[in-house]
Amino acid sequence: MASHKTHYEDCDVLVVGGGMAGTGATFEARHWGRDLKIICVEKANIDRSGAVAQGLYAINCYMGMQWGENQPEDHVRYARNDLMGMVREDLGYDMARHVDSTVHMFDEWGLPMMKNEKTGRYLREGKWQIMIHGESYKPIVAEAAKKSADKIYNRIMITHLLMDEEKENRIGGAVGFNMRTGDFHVFRAKTVIVAAGGASHIFKPRAVGEGMGRTWYAPWSNGSAYALPIAVGAKMTQMENRIVLCRFKDGYGPVGAYFLHLKTYTQNANGENYEKKWYNQTKELVGDYIDHHPTPTCLRNHAFIQETIAGGGPIQMVTTEAFQDPHLETVGWENFLGMTVGQAVVWASQNIDPKYTNPELTTSEPYVMGSHATCSGAWVSGPEDLSPPEYFWGYNRMLTVDGLFGAGDTVGGSAHKFSSGSFTEGRLAAKAAVKYIQDQKAEDIKVTDKQCDDFKKAIFKPLETYQVAQNEITGGTVSPSYISPIQGLQRLQRIMDEYVGGIATNYMTNGNMLKRGLELLAWLEEDLEKVGAEDLHQLMRAWELKHRALTSQCVTEHTMFREETRWPGYYYRGDHMKLDDDNWHCLTVSRRDPKTGKFSLEKVPVYHIVDENEKKKAS
Ligand SMILES: Cc1cc2nc3c(=O)[nH]c(=O)nc-3n(C[C@H](O)[C@H](O)[C@H](O)COP(=O)(O)OP(=O)(O)OC[C@H]3O[C@@H](n4cnc5c(N)ncnc54)[C@H](O)[C@@H]3O)c2cc1C
Repeated sequence: MASHKTHYEDCDVLVVGGGMAGTGATFEARHWGRDLKIICVEKANIDRSGAVAQGLYAINCYMGMQWGENQPEDHVRYARNDLMGMVREDLGYDMARHVDSTVHMFDEWGLPMMKNEKTGRYLREGKWQIMIHGESYKPIVAEAAKKSADKIYNRIMITHLLMDEEKENRIGGAVGFNMRTGDFHVFRAKTVIVAAGGASHIFKPRAVGEGMGRTWYAPWSNGSAYALPIAVGAKMTQMENRIVLCRFKDGYGPVGAYFLHLKTYTQNANGENYEKKWYNQTKELVGDYIDHHPTPTCLRNHAFIQETIAGGGPIQMVTTEAFQDPHLETVGWENFLGMTVGQAVVWASQNIDPKYTNPELTTSEPYVMGSHATCSGAWVSGPEDLSPPEYFWGYNRMLTVDGLFGAGDTVGGSAHKFSSGSFTEGRLAAKAAVKYIQDQKAEDIKVTDKQCDDFKKAIFKPLETYQVAQNEITGGTVSPSYISPIQGLQRLQRIMDEYVGGIATNYMTNGNMLKRGLELLAWLEEDLEKVGAEDLHQLMRAWELKHRALTSQCVTEHTMFREETRWPGYYYRGDHMKLDDDNWHCLTVSRRDPKTGKFSLEKVPVYHIVDENEKKKAS
C-alpha cells in the first residue's frame, strides 16, 4: 500500500470523463464560474478519448433554427417516435433548444463544416444530421476544455464517488488511480459531473478470439457513467433500453450516410424488400407504431432479425447503384475515412468493391448508452421552466444525489443527443452545478481520510490478490485463488448474452432467464472480490469489469421489471411478446440500496409535454 502515493485535490467542479459531454461541461463551468476551481479527470487522454476519438463524419443533432429548418418540438416528436413513446421530453427539448449554439461554436473553433453550395447553409445528410470533415473533432473540443479547466488529469480512472459525511445523500468528490504511475488520487469536490460514456462489452460481441475488441461501440467505454452513480444509490431510468445497431458486417461501418445521402437501400439474399414482408407480423406485436414515420429504428431491426431467422440472409445494402455516380462513390468511401477506417480495410480484405458487390449488413450485440438511439441512464432533474414536478428537484441535470450531475451517455430518458447534444448537455449540467455552488448548497462538505483510505485499499486489492495468487498458478493463467479481468469479462458477457437477450438467443429473453441471469451475476459479483491484476493496465481492466458488472445487474433488473416487449429489434421478452401501452406506457426507474445491494424498481409517468402544450394552446 505504501508504494501508492496519495494526491489530494480540492475543487469546486469535478468533471469525470473528458469526452463530448465532459469537454462541454468543463468549458461551460468556466463561463459561469469564473473564480471556481474546475478539474476534469479522464481515463485516457482527452485529445483522443471517448466515442469520438477517431473522429466523425456527421454531427447528428443540429436543428438549423436560424434557417427555420427544424424546431426543438420537431426533435422531441422525432425522438419520442423513435423510442416508441418513452422519452423525457423536458430533457430532449432543453437539449434541442440549445444545441445549435454549440454547433456554431464548433464552427468558430475551426471544425471544418461542409456547406451546401447552393444555399450556403450547412450541408444536410438527413433531417437532423450535418456533414463535417471531422477527423479532428475531438482535439478541437478538447482544446476548449483545456483552456477552461484549472487542470486536466489524463490517465486517471475514477473508480468510486465520495460521499459527504456531514449531510446525507450529498456528493463529496471522487477517487481513482493513475494508470501510468499507480498513484492514488483523491478529488474532494463540491459538485461532480459524471460524463464517463456508455457501456460496450457487457454483452458478448460477435467478434471473439482474435477479433475481440472489434465492436461498433468503443471498447474502452465500460459503463463507469452508470456504475459510479448506481454505487452511491442514484436512481436510474430505462436501463432495459439497450441499443442494437444495423451496420456493415465485421467493420461496423456506419450506414447513416449510405441511407440518407447516397439513398442506398437494403434487400435480402433474393433481392427482395424484406421489410414489407414483416409488416403484418410487426403490427400484431406493436400496433400502430409500425405505421409511424420514420419507422422506429428498433422495428427496422426487427424485420432484419426476423428475416435472418427465417433464412432470408445474408441481408445486403444495395450500393452498386449509387456507387456508379463518382461523387457518391467518393462520399461513400470518405464516410469511413473520417470515422471507421477499419470498414474499408475489411472490404479490401474480402474483395468487396461496393461499386460491383452489395456489402453484407449485420445487427450488432447490444450496448447501453444514453445519447444515441436509446436512452438508458441516470434519472435527472429537468429544467425549471419545462419539467413537471415529478421531473424537477432544483437543478437541471442533477441526479437524485445532491451535487451529483450528469451529461451525455450518463443521462437517461433523452435519446438522440449524439455528439453535439452531449456537449450541449454537458454545458447545461455545468451551468446548474455552478448555480448549486453559488446557492451555497455545497457548504461544509466533510470527507474523512478514512473514507478515502478504505477506497484506496479496495482499489489496489487486485494487485495484492495477484501477487499472492500467482504462486498458485497451475498452468498458464489458471489459478484456484484468483480470476483475471479477461476471464471475468468473458463470463459476464456469456451471462448477458445467453440470459439477458444477446445475440446467442436472437435478442430473446424471459422472466425465468432473467432470474437465472441475476443469480449468475450475483455469483460473479462475489467472485470479482478475487479478481487479480498483474500490472496497472490489468488493474484498470479489473475496475472496468467491476463497473460493467454493476451496470449489467441494473440492465437485467430493469429488463425483468418491464413486462412487455416495448422495443422489438432491441430485445424481446418471450413471455410478454407484445407492446402493452395499457400497463407499460411509462418510464422505469430503479435504485440500488448501497448498503444492501438490492434494487427496487418503480413506474414513473411519461409526460408528453410538447403535444400537451400545443393542445392547451389550441383550446
Ligand atoms: C460508434 C459510434 C458512432 C457515432 N457516430 C456519431 C456521429 O456520426 N455523429 C454524432 O453526432 N454522434 C455520433 N455518435 C455519438 C457520440 O459519439 C456520443 O453521443 C458522444 O460521444 C457521447 O458523449 P459522452 O461524453 O457521454 O461519451 P464519450 O464521448 O464516449 O466520453 C466519455 C469519456 O469518459 C471517459 N471515461 C470513461 N470512464 C471513465 C472513468 N472511470 N474515469 C475517467 N474517465 C472515464 C472516456 O475515456 C471518455 O473520454 C457515435 C457514437 C458511437 C459509439
